[in-house]
Amino acid sequence: MNNSSPLDYRSAELTRKFIEQIRRITTQPWNIMEICGGQTHALLQYGIDQLLPPEITLIHGPGCPVCVTSLEAVETALQIAAQPDVTFTTFGDMLRVPGNHQDLFSARANGADVRVVVSPMDAVRLAQAEPERQVVFFAIGFETTVPSIAASILHAERNAITNFSILPANVLVPPAIHAILSSPENRVNGFLAAGHVCAVMGYWEYEPIAAQYHTPIVVTGFEPVDLARGIYQTVRQLEESRCVVENAYSRAVTREGNRTAQALINQVFEPVDRQWRGIGLIPRSGLGLRAAYRSFDALERFLVAFNTLVESPLCIAGQVLRGVATPHDCPAFGSQCTPSSPLGAPMVSSEGACAAYYRYQRVKP
Ligand code: SF4
Repeated sequence: MNNSSPLDYRSAELTRKFIEQIRRITTQPWNIMEICGGQTHALLQYGIDQLLPPEITLIHGPGCPVCVTSLEAVETALQIAAQPDVTFTTFGDMLRVPGNHQDLFSARANGADVRVVVSPMDAVRLAQAEPERQVVFFAIGFETTVPSIAASILHAERNAITNFSILPANVLVPPAIHAILSSPENRVNGFLAAGHVCAVMGYWEYEPIAAQYHTPIVVTGFEPVDLARGIYQTVRQLEESRCVVENAYSRAVTREGNRTAQALINQVFEPVDRQWRGIGLIPRSGLGLRAAYRSFDALERFLVAFNTLVESPLCIAGQVLRGVATPHDCPAFGSQCTPSSPLGAPMVSSEGACAAYYRYQRVKP
């Protein structure tokens, strides 16, 4: 099973073999959290959650970048987008994320120049093409999106593009794992770490976390065989009372990660405290621009002010993101809250747990 060809990653037979191994070695209940929202969707899409033995509970983590972007950041984005001569650019998923009273989609309908881009470099090109406008890019996402954002800032600097800036809202995975594992409400026994994040950052940062909290962490990918293998290796560690970091995604991930990308990140950004929607402030869990690049920070260019931040009283997204509730526990799931009429970010995002439960029809047991 370890010599899979690339064509084998979706093999039903290999996936079933790992599931059988999990059933064979499991002797007691274990809660395993997949950090990444992309993995949540893949687990439900391929039905792996339904194939696991009843002792194994999958807990969906906070790794949906759209879901954890703070309400404060969304409100800031709305205020900047509403200013004259501003073109506000964003990944498409952020358009429908609710702010206090509206989202970027409705702001656009009301006349704001909000445009969807697929990369921050698209926003730089817009700034070059329209020098009379201030072009702002909403910098959301985990470590995977940061190298391209750093590159866009360096490109703007080199080419003296002064009408480009970013609204910094990037977040980091390791501090979130710390926050989950140190919480009194924690019930996670083991983690699946996201392969794409580790492809950039490596997994050396996870080793002290696994040791400190006596919790196994297995790096894995997004295909059914990857996920089943990752769960198997996590359960095997738990059953053997081991707690180390293992790499079940070696075709893409090394311990050190992509040093070039890391150097790019470190040149432009530094760790800062950040608010996570539904979770709260996590120390040093975000990235802010270093002093040398702070002129590209939209918060230095635009005045924003708001007194109140209002979440839907029905939405329990915070509990879902912390892994202490499932979308089924939300009274609004599938009734007041649907993908076409979302009350919270996890129902909007293509990586949100609520959207995954809705899409793959996980009905309440
Ligand atoms: S179903 Fe909707 S209202 Fe409920 S937690 Fe999810 S996003 Fe919030």
